[in-house]
Amino acid sequence: MTKHEIKISFKEYDTVEELNAEDHNLCQEAVKALASSHSPYSKFRVGAALLLKSGKVIHASNQENVAYPSGLCAERVALFHWGTSHADDPIVAMAVTAKTDDFELLKPVTSCGACLQVMAECEKRQNSPFKMLLYCIGGPVWAIDGVHSLMPFMFFEDRLSQAV
Ligand SMILES: [Zn+2]
Repeated sequence: MTKHEIKISFKEYDTVEELNAEDHNLCQEAVKALASSHSPYSKFRVGAALLLKSGKVIHASNQENVAYPSGLCAERVALFHWGTSHADDPIVAMAVTAKTDDFELLKPVTSCGACLQVMAECEKRQNSPFKMLLYCIGGPVWAIDGVHSLMPFMFFEDRLSQAV
């Protein structure tokens, strides 16, 4: 028997003002993305912004549907848009934020497992990790260098072949 241990690390900034200008700006772009959220059921708005190597920013938000499983998280809306239209322009960073009128968010919202899996595959497609910025408006920002640290057991397509 061999016991393995996996550690992750991330940076916590007390406020968005502590970030460098590029990261700070991307968090503000994620806030702008909240405006397009379609979340009449949960009333929980999520905004995502991708910064691409070219400098282009992709905005996305959560899109709910009355048939609940038919909706999609902001992160995957952003990443699938990237994959459809900008896959030749690598993702440098992704900022995610959330807002609800029902209660005050005191910590950044983290992404669901399905979104982490899609992020992992996007990193693999572009052959480089991207920074994740999880931003709590009026509160802290968590910065993570690459989704692989959050999802060490991510599923990759090489598991589908015998050549592993
Ligand atoms: Zn998700």
